[in-house]
Amino acid sequence: MIYLCDMNDRPIILVTNDDGIISPGIRALAEVASQFGEVVVVAPDSPQSGMGHAITLDKPLRVIKVDAIEGVDAWQCNGTPVDCVKLAIDKILHRKPDLCLSGINHGSNSSINIIYSGTMSAAMEAAIDGIQAVGFSLLDYHFDADFTGAKKYATQIIEQILKHPLPSGALLNVNIPKLPVEEIKGIKIARQAIAKWVEEFDERLDPRGNSYYWLTGKFVNFDHGEDTDEYALANGYVSVVPVQFDLTNHQVIRHINENWDLNG
Ligand code: MN
Repeated sequence: MIYLCDMNDRPIILVTNDDGIISPGIRALAEVASQFGEVVVVAPDSPQSGMGHAITLDKPLRVIKVDAIEGVDAWQCNGTPVDCVKLAIDKILHRKPDLCLSGINHGSNSSINIIYSGTMSAAMEAAIDGIQAVGFSLLDYHFDADFTGAKKYATQIIEQILKHPLPSGALLNVNIPKLPVEEIKGIKIARQAIAKWVEEFDERLDPRGNSYYWLTGKFVNFDHGEDTDEYALANGYVSVVPVQFDLTNHQVIRHINENWDLNG
């Protein structure tokens, strides 16, 4: 299908997201990425927030070249964010990109949100394939959110990851506070706060008298640590959490080996 050459050894940068190819956030990220390399956008043709690491198994996937983003080769796909990354590598680039950037998401992916996030799963899929990867999210859900601060700090982080790549198996979860750029204090490297959604379903009746439910829910931070992403964001910093897809809990391996009797 294509054939990108890395002219002048510029890195090939795959840009994707979960909000869909028409979202302003992906434009902002493609614009930032263009300063650093040859950008190829492969993104969902419709909003896919909350899809996590879902893949499509039961319907044909289609990829269409579109003129969605000026000056950038772009394709839209009817699959999930993870489908987009897989198709981009296998069928569009025919090679691994040097860097995969996902976002800029409209809304937070800090703390436990990473588990539900299509933005972060797209980046994680690239990391699984051995590609340097970063997910960016702005704490503003609005379609017309101000991406000025997010673009400034994305530029800084992309520059650093290209100069100093992450060890294999790692990727970055970057969240940007909803603040005017001059009020953002800088970047904090943080850990994921212990927090969760307290789920509440709004129950309503359909016209036939049957109940249906609408997920609402409230985010609760149980973590009072000053080294967390939530703390950094609440205090005006961009949070950068290095994460990994290997979910092994090494402490529990030791706990089980020391305490469980599995020989009887
Ligand atoms: Mn989203």
